[in-house]
Amino acid sequence: MAVTRNKIQRNLDRIRTNIEIACAKRNRDPREVTLVAVTKSVEMDTIRNLLDVGLTDLGESRVRQLTARAEEMGAYLARRRNELSGPVRWHMVGHLQRNKIKHVLKCASYVHSVDSLRLAEDLNSRCEFDGRNIDVFIQVNCAEQGQKYGCAVGAATHLAESVDTLPQLRVIGLMTMGVLNDEPETRLAFSRLREIHEEILRDRVCGPAFRHLSMGMSDDYVIAVEQGATVLRIGRALFA
Ligand SMILES: *Cc1c(COP(=O)(O)O)cnc(C)c1O
Repeated sequence: MAVTRNKIQRNLDRIRTNIEIACAKRNRDPREVTLVAVTKSVEMDTIRNLLDVGLTDLGESRVRQLTARAEEMGAYLARRRNELSGPVRWHMVGHLQRNKIKHVLKCASYVHSVDSLRLAEDLNSRCEFDGRNIDVFIQVNCAEQGQKYGCAVGAATHLAESVDTLPQLRVIGLMTMGVLNDEPETRLAFSRLREIHEEILRDRVCGPAFRHLSMGMSDDYVIAVEQGATVLRIGRALFA
């Protein structure tokens, strides 16, 4: 069954309050924090309800799901465009296989999971072919264990620099995942990502568009905001 608009609104209010508290602790402006609603297994009606409460940044972790949903929403969005608070933007937040690049580029405005130069180069070639650009995050494996994807911490700065030189790609930030059920490790992973971020800013490794930290999901978004997150990728907490 679809999750009602009221339920999503209540969850969203709670999440926003928690974000505000975490921001206040760190003297941050909550308006710096964007929420990407990760839709995964929810129904199309639930996604429409997300739009109704003003959430227009939508994320998927699988290419097939992302393209199917983006296409299905197409006609609906075309009818609704004037009422929405802004254009809908799809974020590819999960691991991206190189053979899925052309599909993801049909719909996605952002790719959060660039973790190798090879993937970035293939993205760049396809973007050239399609005559478009794309904003990407460099995914970094900041945890000691338990993560399959993301470049090594020591390779992140150099990768960000190389990817940012590709003409169709713009590196707008870094992304990482916390560690399930391990708050200290998660906090450490997020602070590591923030340190790399600060280093890249300080040394002007990337262009002026580089400013985001995509970290924090349903279980750890408060920690993420305390550690400087500007993009939260939240699924379950919006729907449960
Ligand atoms: C599923 C997923 C999320 C959202 O996870 P929740 O725990 O449902 O908030 C965020 N980022 C990625 C990469 C995901 O796969």
